[in-house]
Amino acid sequence: MYPVSLQELIDEFNKLPGIGHKSAVRLAFHVMNMPEEKVQKFVNAINRAKTSVHLCSKCQNLTDKDVCDICASTKRDTNVICVMESPKDVTALEKTREYNGLYHVLHGAISPMDGIGPDDIKIKELISRLTPEVTEVIMATNPTVEGEATAMYIARLLKPMGITVTRIAHGIPVGGDIEYADEVTLTRAIEGRREI
Ligand code: ZN
Repeated sequence: MYPVSLQELIDEFNKLPGIGHKSAVRLAFHVMNMPEEKVQKFVNAINRAKTSVHLCSKCQNLTDKDVCDICASTKRDTNVICVMESPKDVTALEKTREYNGLYHVLHGAISPMDGIGPDDIKIKELISRLTPEVTEVIMATNPTVEGEATAMYIARLLKPMGITVTRIAHGIPVGGDIEYADEVTLTRAIEGRREI
């Protein structure tokens, strides 16, 4: 239906997450209508991001430096490390401005069903960062079966080292309704209660 190279562009957009066929066609036509220099800028941005962004040698978050800005900062509390599954989780927590410690990104969670074991995520890298300076590790993996299993696995490794391992509280979301909360969520909410 379309010239081959245009069809190829549509197919590439179609492979992106959340982009269906209709959106892919719309985006491809949008590119066709863009001035040459804007297309070049877009292509360069993709290339540059892909070639310059890599994992921070300390926390494994995405960065374009050897050590990311959070790890390099002198204003962060280096006694606490918050362990998260993905760089997007770090961004979400940073937005709250409530946390001032360091991070460690696992890039996944243990999931035997999917063939993902402890060696497939960045657990070794976490262990190698645990100097006596680190007093607390916060397990902020997702409240899924995989996230819980990962939190438990890491807690079991760390506790004999004398490090306090904590788990983020789970419960009723803000704006949520207790009546419609599932049993597990309600149980967690009661377990994680605190004095007000
Ligand atoms: Zn870092």
